[in-house]
Amino acid sequence: MPAGRFAPSPSGDLHLGNLRTALLAWLFARTTGRGFIMRIEDLDRVKSGAEARQLADLRAIGLDWDGPVVRQSERTALYDDAIDRLTAAGMTYECFCTRREILEAPSAPHALGGAYPGTCRGLSPVERSAKTRPPALRLKSDVTEFSITDMIHGQFNGQVDDFVLRRADGVAAYNLAVVVDDGEQGIDQVVRGDDLLASSPRQAYLSSLLELPTPTYAHVPLALNSQGKRLAKRDGAVTLADQAAMGLGPHDVRRMLAESLELDPSDLLGTFDPARLPTTPWIFET
Ligand code: GLU
Repeated sequence: MPAGRFAPSPSGDLHLGNLRTALLAWLFARTTGRGFIMRIEDLDRVKSGAEARQLADLRAIGLDWDGPVVRQSERTALYDDAIDRLTAAGMTYECFCTRREILEAPSAPHALGGAYPGTCRGLSPVERSAKTRPPALRLKSDVTEFSITDMIHGQFNGQVDDFVLRRADGVAAYNLAVVVDDGEQGIDQVVRGDDLLASSPRQAYLSSLLELPTPTYAHVPLALNSQGKRLAKRDGAVTLADQAAMGLGPHDVRRMLAESLELDPSDLLGTFDPARLPTTPWIFET
């Protein structure tokens, strides 16, 4: 069954902005006859106990999902297989650069809009064998930009550089894991915060290289604090537990989120219309 998904990183409790994005992903999936998959992106920034609390909070506001929860840390073989295929096609290279070397490169990334300057792309085998630190593996990209179509942003053309596929610690990088998982899990609808819009051309390009179908994208507006900055834990009572401490239960939070989306809290699915979604960020005043 085609499916949508929510893919939280278990780095702490979800805040109201994350819960609102999850609710939107669920609404997009469930109003279009899709399955809904819960995927824990635990290759990085794992905080003990966070996964269980995130799942409990998502359930508490009324979300449900199909099949077992999937964890990226259990899917290493799939990522290795995709990387092996790209390597066999001559589309990867080892990169020995430190973060600092990248920032200080003669063609510095800020001049390239954050793109990797390609320092290690042309290393000879002799130069490579002289390196001592463990390498990351990068994509030898044959484009510099790629276009995607987004339900909210329309056609979006963005940068594609030689991004990292496998980190120097041997773990699959976010962009690789997301693309492999979305493809392997039959996810044909990606709804997530619009802070990830800029990553989507890289991911769509990579999925074309791996001969995976490109999903439909909807990058939804984020929640901001009263200063117009992305909502964060330090902004006050922003988690379900914080709200509960103020006497507001999950149903009250669900109603608040529904109202922020101009939906009827008692009929979320019946009143959801992607074409009428607010297109500006949600300002959450604590
Ligand atoms: N794990 C990412 C995050 O929590 C989301 C990745 C995605 O939706 O593609 O920011």
